Amino acid sequence: MTDHVSRRRFLQATAASVATSSLAVGAPSAKAPFPASFAVHTGRVRSPVAVASENGKLAVQIAVEKMIAGYAPVDAAVAGVTVVEDDPLDDSVGLGGLPNEEGVVELDACVMDGPSGLAGAVGALQNIQNPAQVALKIMRHTDHVMLVGEGALRFAKSYGFPEVNLLTEPSRQKWLEWRERRGTLDKWIHPDENTVGGKEWFTQWKHKTGTIHLGAVNATGDVGSCTSTSGLAFKIPGRVGDSPIIGSGNYCDNDIGTGGGTGRGEANIIANGGAFIVQQMALGITPTDACMAAVRRVVRLTKQKRLLDDKGRPSFQIKFYAINKAGQIGSAGMYADSYARCDENGAVLADLASLYHEKIK
Ligand code: ASP
Repeated sequence: MTDHVSRRRFLQATAASVATSSLAVGAPSAKAPFPASFAVHTGRVRSPVAVASENGKLAVQIAVEKMIAGYAPVDAAVAGVTVVEDDPLDDSVGLGGLPNEEGVVELDACVMDGPSGLAGAVGALQNIQNPAQVALKIMRHTDHVMLVGEGALRFAKSYGFPEVNLLTEPSRQKWLEWRERRGTLDKWIHPDENTVGGKEWFTQWKHKTGTIHLGAVNATGDVGSCTSTSGLAFKIPGRVGDSPIIGSGNYCDNDIGTGGGTGRGEANIIANGGAFIVQQMALGITPTDACMAAVRRVVRLTKQKRLLDDKGRPSFQIKFYAINKAGQIGSAGMYADSYARCDENGAVLADLASLYHEKIK
């Protein structure tokens, strides 16, 4: 069933971890502000669970294994994300990520820890392969939440992160091809194009996107989450997307659950998708419905004609992922796609709920 552990070993490990836990998952704590509405008060413990974007099937499995081994959810989430950052074949995250328009790889990442309510983030970080781990250091060793650019790089180096060339040869070739073919199809726009009903000639260049978001909830209902990306391919240098923005690409609240997103970052920054999802779940809405509510929010907030197709629908993909404190997993997107999840049955890719049922071209 899995790349790392047999199904039997996985289930045995899960059972052992659950057996050693003294807390009933979903049991209302004295502090919990939403005791009756959102939590599933089964009074029984259960397996740790994790959710991620489609590129996170191995990552969710690792995150669950780490939680079974006793890692805090945020550390388990970073452990899962690290394998994707280290994978040179994933050109949307870490090593091998597609570069900015000048051919330089710039990474964004953030982490959030439910029990402490703390967060850490890096933006436009160059030459460091594991930005999520740097975000963890910021969370644990400073009073800040986000460091960007040169300051983030110096901070990372001070903690011993080595500088590496993140631009692999296949990603450099894609960048060279983009540069030769770009024409007017880059990320610069004339202000007139932002007039609703304005120029229609604008064609959004299909910049390849991709990111990993990973939400994790352990057997006692503590939550943690992480998002890491090389961002929009061929972006304007210094552009930071939603991924490292606490409340947009990633959010968690230990009383409620985790929420995060991937896809068009500019839309998710404006929608504050991660925090919005968590607040929806606080009202008692299921994770999938909370994600779909975030998709609808993006639709409502997308007013520029240049971002709509000929049917008036957003012409971009956005996907959301959530887990509530009770361990229910959900995901929804603008267009059909899949997501990764792991529970006591192991790691799988599953179809997300989509507002529009076709795949985006
Ligand atoms: N959200 C990422 C960004 O805008 C890209 C993606 O997830 O595809 O940087």
